[in-house]
Amino acid sequence: MKQTLGSIASNVEVMSGVYVMWIEAPHVAAAAQPGQFVTVRCKDFTLRRPFSIHQSSPLTGEDSGEGEIAILFRVAGKGTFWLSQRQAGEKIDILGPLGKGFTIRPESKNLLLVAGGIGIAPLVLMMQQVSSQHQVTLIQGAGTAAQLYLDSRQLTAISHQRAQVVPVTEDGSMGRKGTATDILSDFLNWADQVYACGPIDMYKTMALPLNPSPLKGEGKGEGEKRSNLKLKECQVSLEVRMGCGFGACYGCTINTRKGLRRVCHDGPVFELDDIIWQQVKI
Ligand SMILES: Cc1cc2nc3c(=O)[nH]c(=O)nc-3n(C[C@H](O)[C@H](O)[C@H](O)COP(=O)(O)OP(=O)(O)OC[C@H]3O[C@@H](n4cnc5c(N)ncnc54)[C@H](O)[C@@H]3O)c2cc1C
Repeated sequence: MKQTLGSIASNVEVMSGVYVMWIEAPHVAAAAQPGQFVTVRCKDFTLRRPFSIHQSSPLTGEDSGEGEIAILFRVAGKGTFWLSQRQAGEKIDILGPLGKGFTIRPESKNLLLVAGGIGIAPLVLMMQQVSSQHQVTLIQGAGTAAQLYLDSRQLTAISHQRAQVVPVTEDGSMGRKGTATDILSDFLNWADQVYACGPIDMYKTMALPLNPSPLKGEGKGEGEKRSNLKLKECQVSLEVRMGCGFGACYGCTINTRKGLRRVCHDGPVFELDDIIWQQVKI
């Protein structure tokens, strides 16, 4: 982990209220693992704001300069609003890479990624880094088509042939109608491991026995025929409120089945089954 004053290479609104900011940070770009995060000093606020590492330039090809990372952020309050106003060329104070990211068993071939809303952020880096050696399917859930971040053209730019995106929208304006968790059961037979990032309610649903998919069509499994399925081998990234971001203040401690854990230091990635979901609050 290192603190850097990096230049902002670009800061672009990619969807309403959602920005991609590229920042010069060579050591973070070189070391970043999917699921890790950086904290950013926003204005003069005491608490730094955490953001997943969304992409890193050594792996994105010719479009980006070397030694940069990207964060994908939604304007949620005063810190992210301040960030959204920053311009290319300005300096920004970032600390990272922080935390423990996603892990893959060596024998796993088929990886299922599940993104709810802005939870797509760390899963794009995951796709970049693993899709040359693994079959990757990303279920991308959002409220409407306008809130879906990745289309197939962008997917081709960031990943390899063996990746596919399955869009799901709550209003049915693109892809399947419903939520990302509605179609999970379709992929259970296929997936060796599952990786998720999204709201706490999405994880709470995933931790319960899954119902067979009410949606038919593109699924790779036989979800329609099964019931009371449990997700196994599922890792989730927890976005709880943080203090210091590197394990010193214990402000983000949660109670897990393995004892007390600091989300910033022991996570933010945890096994779905290790979390006592009733006790987790943002
Ligand atoms: C490990 C980690 C990775 C994250 N990655 C991303 C990311 O890639 N993209 C992204 O947009 N956001 C991400 N977040 C959430 C992001 O840190 C918060 O949205 C941000 O700190 C809000 O700052 P603010 O000053 O704009 O909001 P504030 O003014 O502090 O709060 C505004 C609203 O945002 C909510 N909020 C504050 N902190 C969090 C939080 N940690 N998680 C969820 N809601 C919060 C508050 O409850 C409040 O409703 C991540 C959080 C963590 C812990």
